Amino acid sequence: MSTSTISRPQLSYLTDQLNDLKQRGTHFKLRVLQEAQAPECIFDGKRVINLASNNYLGLTTHPKLREAALAALNKYGVGSGAVRTVSGTMDIHMELEEKIARFKNVEACVVFQSGFAANAGTVSAILGKGDFIISDELNHASIIDGARLSRATIKVFRHKDIAHAEELLKEVAGEPGHKLVITDGVFSMDGDIGPLPALCELAEKYGAIMMVDDAHASGVLGRNGRGTIDHFNMHGRVDVQVGTLSKAIGALGGYVCGTRELIDFLYHRARPFLFSTSHPPSVAATCIAAFDVLEQEPQLMEKLWDNTRFFKKELGSLGFNIGGRNTPLSETPITPVIVGEGRLAMEFSRELFKEGVFTPGIAYPTVAEGKARLRTIMTATHTKDQLGKSLDIFGRVGKRMGIIS
Ligand code: PMP
Repeated sequence: MSTSTISRPQLSYLTDQLNDLKQRGTHFKLRVLQEAQAPECIFDGKRVINLASNNYLGLTTHPKLREAALAALNKYGVGSGAVRTVSGTMDIHMELEEKIARFKNVEACVVFQSGFAANAGTVSAILGKGDFIISDELNHASIIDGARLSRATIKVFRHKDIAHAEELLKEVAGEPGHKLVITDGVFSMDGDIGPLPALCELAEKYGAIMMVDDAHASGVLGRNGRGTIDHFNMHGRVDVQVGTLSKAIGALGGYVCGTRELIDFLYHRARPFLFSTSHPPSVAATCIAAFDVLEQEPQLMEKLWDNTRFFKKELGSLGFNIGGRNTPLSETPITPVIVGEGRLAMEFSRELFKEGVFTPGIAYPTVAEGKARLRTIMTATHTKDQLGKSLDIFGRVGKRMGIIS
């Protein structure tokens, strides 16, 4: 008997839940990539155009990043050997933090193992019982988990609804606890941009801490990819700036930027920093090289935005719902194609894949019930030919399935 068929009665409730997903048509199998992440590559043995990657600038395979990783591998070996607070802080980790702080024009930076760890570790460290978190309803799961871990009271405002956020702040204004206003810079499922100027004003008015998760804005928005704080010129008005090294930067990790004191506090209190081993030195070196590329190769961002404008416009012209009716309109390289029902989104994704385009279906609970979608993501490295082919396939399959007329 193979290990996978051994029956474990104590886990049968998990089987029941999986069966439920299968019945709803939202159970998925992982697509396996058999070469490097690229605009066209082989998943599950089939060559497809890849509209499913956060590799916005194509840096996962950039020669300067590869070179930096290899040099670090040769100098330091493959792992850091410990958590940062024991013996796992290498000079290359410090160099990366200093580099990011300079890039973002802030006093200091701390790097975490992932963007998820950065959000969850930071929110749960800086707030506690008796405090209040005023959070956009579409904020990322890592913010939600950090908020829950903090044991602060969580107050959720309707998506980008400033008046609602203010109502919630007013409700707790007389309370002694600390208040945090928190938003994604770019929302990962709709591709719209958070209302930073208005939220910063609110935070200032009510004496709240302001925090922005710029995972999808790092390397995408602002001068040379400095993010939404730079895009809106909100420098000095956001207390906690989170970014990721896993998307446009091309490697893995997350970071928090802010005052020297904030970062020192996180060194002492953020649990993923204290209790989980630091990055392999090759990853730190890769990220250092990536920030050089952001400064030296602005044409990558230009190409990303050129592709984004083209693809978004054409997708909308085909008649797909790319947001804007009951959902926000995307303003970034993430463009959702909203189809409504989870089962339909999954089927649409499978049919597109058969015809040569990979775009994942996303259903409840990742997005609200009735808002299931495909999520397309542009990169700087897609060619116009690949985009044209994708649009043809989208149009053909969309018509066949009755999603567009
Ligand atoms: N925040 C947002 C808005 C994200 O979309 C993601 C990635 N899904 C993260 C944080 C987490 O980043 P990472 O993949 O580096 O853990």
